[in-house]
Amino acid sequence: MKIPFLDLKLQYEDIKDEIDQAIAGVINKSAFIGGEYVKKFEENFAKFIGTSHCVSCANGTDALIIALKALGIGRGDEVIIPAISFIATSEAVTAAGAKVVYVDVDEKHNLIDPDKIEDKITQKTKAIIPVHIYGRPADMDRILKIASKHNLKIIEDAAQSHGARYKGRMIGTMGHAACFSFYPGKNLGAYGDGGAIVTLDDALARTMKMYANHGRITKYDHEFEGINSRLDGLQAAVLSVKLKHLNDWNKNRNRIAHDYIAKLETIKGIDTPEKDDNTISVFHLFVIRTDGRDKLSEHLKSKEISTGVHYPIALPFLKAYQYLGHSESDFPIAAKNQNRVLSLPIFPEMTDDQLSYVVRQIQEFKSK
Ligand SMILES: *Cc1c(COP(=O)(O)O)cnc(C)c1O
Repeated sequence: MKIPFLDLKLQYEDIKDEIDQAIAGVINKSAFIGGEYVKKFEENFAKFIGTSHCVSCANGTDALIIALKALGIGRGDEVIIPAISFIATSEAVTAAGAKVVYVDVDEKHNLIDPDKIEDKITQKTKAIIPVHIYGRPADMDRILKIASKHNLKIIEDAAQSHGARYKGRMIGTMGHAACFSFYPGKNLGAYGDGGAIVTLDDALARTMKMYANHGRITKYDHEFEGINSRLDGLQAAVLSVKLKHLNDWNKNRNRIAHDYIAKLETIKGIDTPEKDDNTISVFHLFVIRTDGRDKLSEHLKSKEISTGVHYPIALPFLKAYQYLGHSESDFPIAAKNQNRVLSLPIFPEMTDDQLSYVVRQIQEFKSK
């Protein structure tokens, strides 16, 4: 049985009429840049998150850069991020002109370890970017407490966690700002690039909106230099359609993940994520940990099951960050997990048969 890692074609077929109509609408109105579709999506997404402002932009990486810039973070400042994330989290800090400072992660979920944050805080620290990686919320109560004690800003990297909840609170409502990506493969994905920042802060929203749009509000009144980072009308229209289905899709992902956990947790040598307790994960990825990860992924590949590794090299150990001079002993958990994590196929349309097949192949491999 061929099992893809995710199936965007299948998702499109389910909502084809709505999508085609939305795209035709944008073209008919030539609402390519700015305009009603972008405005409407910003309203829809702010409402979905339960926040007051959504500033759309070109992608999730820009979202992080815009938030950092608008919060006045730049040269001479330090920003704390987890040792495991997609490089965008780290790149954004550097792009804003600040220095990236890594904190090790927890073993089970690769989330920033709150116990290790305060050791890294200096006079220069201005912000923490917790990443709700794989769709699971970081331990926000503890992170917020540390931030308020040291007067730091919190920017949530919510690029993998649209719709996740922490103790009843929506991801994206707890930090000063939260950044989303609408890359096609994300839980809410466009048909191209897209991103957004949400915030409850009126003044910050205004600055971010201006920064993303050449430092202006109306046509030629540039108050400062910004950048050009826009969500286009076609993507906004697609996203508004898909947003209506996001809760259902997330519920499916969560159910599939818990099914995986129930079936995999009894297999010796396979470490699964925890079941949800006071959080609701939206399982952007379903990540197990196992020794001999590469052999397992090869076995699954031979059975036509696609898997991924998120991420094979933790941020401090990437060539791009060699200049910081870190060694594996600085981040022992990240160093261990990078060799053990394996992302199994998960997507809202995944069937019970597909899941059982994946589980069976893992079982077979581990019993050899
Ligand atoms: C995808 C992602 C980003 C960047 O989003 P783009 O839209 O690809 O620029 C940032 N952070 C994390 C954790 C991501 O997964």
